[in-house]
Amino acid sequence: MEDLQKLLLHDHGLSVSTLPEKGRCLFTTREYSPGEIILSQEPYVSVPNKTPVKSRCDWCFTSSNVKRCSSCQVVWYCGSKCQTSDWKVHRLECQLLAKLEKNRIKSLTPSIRLMVKLYLRRKLQNEKVIPTSVTDNYNLVKDLVSHISEVEEMQLVLYAQMASLVNIILQWSTLNIKEIAENFSKLACNAHTICDSELIPLGTGLYPIVSIINHSCSPNSVLVFEGRIATVRAMQTIPKGSEVLISYIETAGSTMTRQKALKDQYFFICSCPRCIKLGEHDDIEESAILEGYRCKNHTCNGFLLRDIESKGFKCQKCGVVREKEEIVKIASEEKTMSNKASVALSSCHNKEALDMYLMVEKLQVKLCHSFSINLMRTRETLLKILMELQDWKKALTYCRLTIPVYERVYPKFHPLRGLQYYTCGKLEWLLGYTDEAIKSLTQAVDVLRITHGTNTSFMKDLIAKLEEAKAEASYKLSSMDD
Ligand SMILES: [Zn+2]
Ligand SMILES: [Zn+2]
Ligand SMILES: [Zn+2]
Ligand SMILES: [Zn+2]
Repeated sequence: MEDLQKLLLHDHGLSVSTLPEKGRCLFTTREYSPGEIILSQEPYVSVPNKTPVKSRCDWCFTSSNVKRCSSCQVVWYCGSKCQTSDWKVHRLECQLLAKLEKNRIKSLTPSIRLMVKLYLRRKLQNEKVIPTSVTDNYNLVKDLVSHISEVEEMQLVLYAQMASLVNIILQWSTLNIKEIAENFSKLACNAHTICDSELIPLGTGLYPIVSIINHSCSPNSVLVFEGRIATVRAMQTIPKGSEVLISYIETAGSTMTRQKALKDQYFFICSCPRCIKLGEHDDIEESAILEGYRCKNHTCNGFLLRDIESKGFKCQKCGVVREKEEIVKIASEEKTMSNKASVALSSCHNKEALDMYLMVEKLQVKLCHSFSINLMRTRETLLKILMELQDWKKALTYCRLTIPVYERVYPKFHPLRGLQYYTCGKLEWLLGYTDEAIKSLTQAVDVLRITHGTNTSFMKDLIAKLEEAKAEASYKLSSMDD
């Protein structure tokens, strides 16, 4: 830890402190400006998601041109470069996998593989086959919290079963099932979902230094991935001596929803500036807007609260009451339809799913406030389905409908906000709305250059698209002059 402190201080302007109520925290020892990289780390171990359709390279997570490892037939690589980089660990893993029965291979989950790789890498570092460094050693993994004493009985049983499977695969006489189970608990609250630039999940990785960073529902930093490398960037100016904070969860929900998510997965009660307002007037209003009902009076945008006298829900702006029975009826229709729609979508019946989600949307418009999170999610789903069906015009309509809600629930430099502007801009460009496309792509660049940097191929593509749109606009203008 001492060496890590020195390195963080010297190379990054960071320092690790331990606070009694929060555990380890990462602080800045200098100012960071928006978009600046705070730290980057390779995973201690990582593994791609298991998907029936798309196999991914075990090292860099790409899905293009991947080939199966000829010995184990389980793991995929995009080429010899990635295979070589992974070889020391995979050489051992490969022998173990090749020995496994077919049925066991089928039941091999990413978590099991991640744990096997964790033990293999620890062994190889102990034997000095893989070198260790200040930022790459098992002690960093050892220091991570597991919250094992707070894990529910059912979950513990599951961890024990997973641990015995790891034991069967590794077949080391020295292994301790209890320790493996505890490590599963550690992965559950410390491993990060590795996403591509568009925040589509690709796999899971353990980044022990990134794990030191604590959570806030209004964070000053953002974690993004470039291939397997995790990068934390400042989203705003971070003064010297501040704690670096990222968000572990979707921050768009109400305080109650966010706190439940944090308690369930990470075992703590958040006391960020948004969370300490729980139960205050503004917070109640916000919850009622995000997750509550709309006013019966269609021209009113007031929020509704439970009314004891009428046993219904009363608009806090115009005073009109919506009866409980009416709300319950629509809510139950909406729930039934949502379930059906999600079944249709997951079985890839896009046309059916589209009709069903349109009905869900109709019901939610009747039921929810116009800034409702559920309505926003439904419209996001409609946008995705319409893109799949290549109905660009309708897709753009839905993309535009989500923008005001995004602007309300996400801070200015949130990657999701930038990505939504990007989708809007791409659709406008495709439909020939050059001026609108320039506006949306400019908004996308403004956000994403902070959250994603400017060096990735993703950002280069975006910037090139914007240049292209600008060139076309000025061409149109000059040909009008002629
Ligand atoms: Zn690769
Ligand atoms: Zn292999
Ligand atoms: Zn919070
Ligand atoms: Zn009203």
